[in-house]
Amino acid sequence: MSGTIIVGGGLAGAAAAARLAQGGERPLLLERSSGAHDKICGEFLSTEAQAHLAAIGFDLPRLGGAPIDRLRLVAGTRRIETRLPFRGVGVSRRILDEALLDHAVAAGAKAERGVAVRQIDGTALETSAGAIDAGRLLLATGKHDVRGVKRDTRGTIDGLIGFKQYFRVSARTTTALQQHIDVALFDGGYAGLQLVEGGIANLCLLVSRERYAAAGDWPTLFAELLREPHLRARLGDAQPMLDRPLTISGVPYGFVHRGDDGAYRLGDQAGVIPSFSGDGMSIALHSAAVAARAVLEGADAAAYHRRLRADIAAQIGRATWLQRFGWSRAGRAVLLAGLTLAPSSMARAAAWTRVSAPALARAGVA
Ligand SMILES: Cc1cc2nc3c(=O)[nH]c(=O)nc-3n(C[C@H](O)[C@H](O)[C@H](O)COP(=O)(O)OP(=O)(O)OC[C@H]3O[C@@H](n4cnc5c(N)ncnc54)[C@H](O)[C@@H]3O)c2cc1C
Repeated sequence: MSGTIIVGGGLAGAAAAARLAQGGERPLLLERSSGAHDKICGEFLSTEAQAHLAAIGFDLPRLGGAPIDRLRLVAGTRRIETRLPFRGVGVSRRILDEALLDHAVAAGAKAERGVAVRQIDGTALETSAGAIDAGRLLLATGKHDVRGVKRDTRGTIDGLIGFKQYFRVSARTTTALQQHIDVALFDGGYAGLQLVEGGIANLCLLVSRERYAAAGDWPTLFAELLREPHLRARLGDAQPMLDRPLTISGVPYGFVHRGDDGAYRLGDQAGVIPSFSGDGMSIALHSAAVAARAVLEGADAAAYHRRLRADIAAQIGRATWLQRFGWSRAGRAVLLAGLTLAPSSMARAAAWTRVSAPALARAGVA
């Protein structure tokens, strides 16, 4: 076999498959999961991500996500609230990723589920179902590196651990979270809390390794977080829905791919923006659009990566700088003081960390 192979069927891989199929190709997508599954993610789908989905004819409203257009930033007893300069949607990845993969298949892409790619050497793929040769390789394995094509993540932020848990929350908390994303800052980390479809609340947080090591385990860490007044008010009487939280470590925040190994890298394999920006999914979908256009035009992987870097590198750089600055107690105090004086600057900071309108236009997204 020697055609276009996409490895990974998350948002980046599925969107690229849909775009290539819509452009007349018949790519083969290999996804290691055999069915719908939860993913660690805050599940805030930005307006740019929504525009990318609309551009490929994906019916997002059908999924019944929760609209979000206000941000509440909380630190201890301090609270700053502002309107976002855009409308996001809270939608679970279990539903979204599966629906997008179905959309790609309906457009004419071929998807093989339950096939894990174990090693890549140039265009030779060793998979759990045997060896395959890819005429062209699109690498969309997200946070997971594949042997032979690991990302060079030197100089990125590491040392953070992410957790995600769904909760059934009280009617009072549901009302408070309508239209809102709550971001709670605490020593050694921050947490985002928002609704997704079905009135379920997603708590997604990042903590430093040191903070987690001091707690020792998730139940202790969560009990400590409930001492924060805001999180106690929201989640003190909530019921966790997953047996245990999803967790991840070693996410290379600030990574931008700069090498050239012949592969078209998509999503988190091309660049990783700090999670607080709520724009990782938008970058994943954007990379899919830029890569599909490059492939259909006959541009090679190096040319594709130059185009993509021009669209996302500065944005990732700014978000990474903000994350580094805001992580220390002093930096956080400065940010909070500034935001208290001018809450609307929060909306401006949010705009700096998004895929820009000219970049969207270049990718053919209105
Ligand atoms: C804590 C946290 C919170 C976040 N919150 C948000 C948010 O609120 N909003 C937002 O926009 N972004 C957020 N992000 C970022 C966002 O989740 C990612 O940027 C996005 O999922 C990247 O999409 P992707 O398609 O590149 O990778 P993924 O969604 O990770 O998909 C990769 C796919 O590849 C498959 N795969 C992996 N390895 C192999 C293999 N070897 N063979 C075959 N298949 C394989 C996986 O099963 C998976 O389906 C967050 C990230 C983190 C860590």
